[in-house]
Amino acid sequence: MAQWGTMDKRIAVIGGGPAGLMAAEVLAEAGLSVTVFDSKPTLARKFLMAGKSGLNITNAEPHAELAGRFGRAGMRLMPALDQFTGADIRAWMTGLGIESFAGSSGRVFPRQMKASPLLRAWLARLDGLGVSFATRHDWQGYEGDTLVFDTPEGRRVERFDRVVLALGGASWRRLGSDARWVPWLRDRNVEVVPFRPANCGFVVPWSEHFSARSAGEPLKPVRARGLLGECVVTKGGFEGGLIYPLSAPLRDEIERDGSAVLILDLAPDRAEGPLAETLSRQPAKLSLSNRLRKGAGLSPVKAGLVREVRSDAGALDAATLAQLIKAIPIRLTATAPMDRAISVAGGISWDAVGPDYQLSALPGTFVAGEMIDWEAPTGGYLLTACLAMGRAAAQGVLRSL
Ligand SMILES: Cc1cc2nc3c(=O)[nH]c(=O)nc-3n(C[C@H](O)[C@H](O)[C@H](O)COP(=O)(O)OP(=O)(O)OC[C@H]3O[C@@H](n4cnc5c(N)ncnc54)[C@H](O)[C@@H]3O)c2cc1C
Repeated sequence: MAQWGTMDKRIAVIGGGPAGLMAAEVLAEAGLSVTVFDSKPTLARKFLMAGKSGLNITNAEPHAELAGRFGRAGMRLMPALDQFTGADIRAWMTGLGIESFAGSSGRVFPRQMKASPLLRAWLARLDGLGVSFATRHDWQGYEGDTLVFDTPEGRRVERFDRVVLALGGASWRRLGSDARWVPWLRDRNVEVVPFRPANCGFVVPWSEHFSARSAGEPLKPVRARGLLGECVVTKGGFEGGLIYPLSAPLRDEIERDGSAVLILDLAPDRAEGPLAETLSRQPAKLSLSNRLRKGAGLSPVKAGLVREVRSDAGALDAATLAQLIKAIPIRLTATAPMDRAISVAGGISWDAVGPDYQLSALPGTFVAGEMIDWEAPTGGYLLTACLAMGRAAAQGVLRSL
């Protein structure tokens, strides 16, 4: 419960994604008057999108390992992650009537896989706690020390006792996180590191022929840099589950060297020697794709990739062909557009954020979620950190009152 004297405090949470909603929950539970503002007509659109292919909300691996997934930002995130672990997230979901399960890789999903039942139960809880929702309220920055919103009823200028900003990153703009806030915070001396795509696809300069025939086709199974999985050929490159965990080092290599080479093993379950042996037994009159299908079990898209990389593949002897299949080099020339990325690196610099997630340059304003400069691979780590930071920022607000 709130301390005597803080009950009348008005708190604005701007951004109704997972970080903002978690902050609102903690603040409302403490008895404060909380309004969640969001520019969109409905809340948590990216959270719902994340649930489309299965909401991987956290990871069941030991907490010490989970906390190690955040690279350089791990030190700063640790206190928040310690306060709201993967196990706590599962217990929180159970409290909302949503059972979860952990897959073999440790990834945790709600039983129904989707995000919508969880979001419905969560919003009902917030409503019950007295949280007000102001959707279609687009925050447009500051006028002096008041907040300015564009609303269906016109311009609204308001002052709050504390503000939590949870405006998200800079991908999938149509879902709301469009990073328009960057100049407004920079004007207030808050350092913001330029955004970069994370968990993203890559550009490969395919020939028109390969792009037209193969875009949308899955390459599976394939191995790259020690990981086994699958990816999808796009019109202009690659994306998908195998590529995302490799995307931070690949992005950094491209930034440093202008391009990066990804070596794919197209036949991960076959050793090179026996592969050369079965390829050598194929009749010489077979077309290349039939030779690759019968001799190496390659799908048409994998065979197309072999021809794309080596136009003379049809003339190669079995040993060289087997070598190529086991280590086919793909040159990545750029990251795919940031708007398509699952998440981003960059955002509010940790140098601008105090220990309680309060902005040093804007006392009374707290921040949480993807708008801060951190990144993590897929596997449930992104939502785990957003939820944990939402709680930590709210606890910072409570301590400041
Ligand atoms: C396709 C896809 C799949 C994903 N799958 C997973 C997954 O399975 N597991 C996982 O951990 N993560 C996943 N993610 C990432 C995860 O969804 C995000 O990291 C997370 O939603 C970020 O939460 P947030 O609260 O910081 O910001 P957001 O969810 O982006 O919310 C920010 C909110 O702020 C609002 N807003 C922005 N600007 C303004 C403004 N000026 N005024 C008012 N409101 C504003 C937006 O409308 C939005 O509602 C996925 C992302 C995508 C795109």
